[in-house]
Amino acid sequence: MSEHCVFCGHKHLISTNTRYIYQKNERMLVVEHVPCLECTFCGEHYFDAVVLERIENDYQAIADQQKQPQRIMQVAVEEFSSLAL
Ligand SMILES: [Zn+2]
Repeated sequence: MSEHCVFCGHKHLISTNTRYIYQKNERMLVVEHVPCLECTFCGEHYFDAVVLERIENDYQAIADQQKQPQRIMQVAVEEFSSLAL
């Protein structure tokens, strides 16, 4: 992982964790407390390739019904043009 933010060039990245949303076709997997580096200036998150691979594998296991997720979250979907002013 690089030691500066590719997005804004800032040099202060801290180890933290965040919610990662993996999306494929019409399905999503939300993973809580994923370890990452966060740019203290712009808030961009950086994930290790191994971490992303584990998330993708988990998504596939759930999609193939080899695994049950810990919980199911209901997601509302809107088209921006249909939003109230
Ligand atoms: Zn940044």
